[in-house]
Amino acid sequence: MTSAWPTGLIEVADSVFAYVQAGGGLCVSNAGFIVGTEGCIVIDALFAPSMTRAFREEIARVTDKPARLLINTHHHVDHTLGNALFPEAQIISHANARKEQQRVGTGVFDLLRPRIPELVAEAEGIQPRLPDVTFEGELTVHLGGRSIRLLHLGRAHTIGDALVLLPEERLLFAGDLVFDQVTPLAFEGHIGGWLEVCDKVAALEVDTIVPGHGPTGDKSGLREMRDYLQSVRDQARAAFEAGRSEEEAAQNIDLGRYASWAEPERLPLNVGRLYQEFRGEI
Ligand SMILES: [Zn+2]
Repeated sequence: MTSAWPTGLIEVADSVFAYVQAGGGLCVSNAGFIVGTEGCIVIDALFAPSMTRAFREEIARVTDKPARLLINTHHHVDHTLGNALFPEAQIISHANARKEQQRVGTGVFDLLRPRIPELVAEAEGIQPRLPDVTFEGELTVHLGGRSIRLLHLGRAHTIGDALVLLPEERLLFAGDLVFDQVTPLAFEGHIGGWLEVCDKVAALEVDTIVPGHGPTGDKSGLREMRDYLQSVRDQARAAFEAGRSEEEAAQNIDLGRYASWAEPERLPLNVGRLYQEFRGEI
């Protein structure tokens, strides 16, 4: 399937850039950076070294200022493995994201290898680098005259998601709290919590959202993804209460218009996680 959005930089506010990767599928995530007077702040570091190098080349085309700070929006390898290729930057994340990154390491490569062998082969030589600084709740970073707020609004895509909010610019780097035109993945998430976080994000005063996967957009992408999660949760709940297995539930869920999104095969993983949620295991 050809993607409707190309890989490249988009200036989403003055001196603020999204780096979007075409397709937005497995391990093909987005990143961004903010240029200040003396240095820049990078948001997420991507997965395979070729991806991170291409991103760094795009940064270098815009600025020669050093990357002082690298924000990890959560622990997943497609956002953090490239940390190693930003040796000059201090890395910051939510405390749970650091713990999860430490727990998971590169163990997830065994699951990814059958799906994306070339990317995993490329990534295998990389030594993961953990965040240097962590926060809980909320933190504000100052860069030049700009305030950048890091917010943790509860468990959702993972237990350590950080939103990167630029209030003046009405701009949000959402990490994987938002997937746009790509099926959201909750294999380590909590969909009930994610729905609540979606409502909190919807209440933020932002016009532009850079999702973790998919093209940049506005709140309509967030609403669409929330609808997907609600629809799948409602249908799975009905199947659960009718005593059906999670496999049966997944087979019978009607995805409707969301069936055309990338990575539809994530449904059984999401239903599996929902069943854990309904059983009170997570
Ligand atoms: Zn993720």
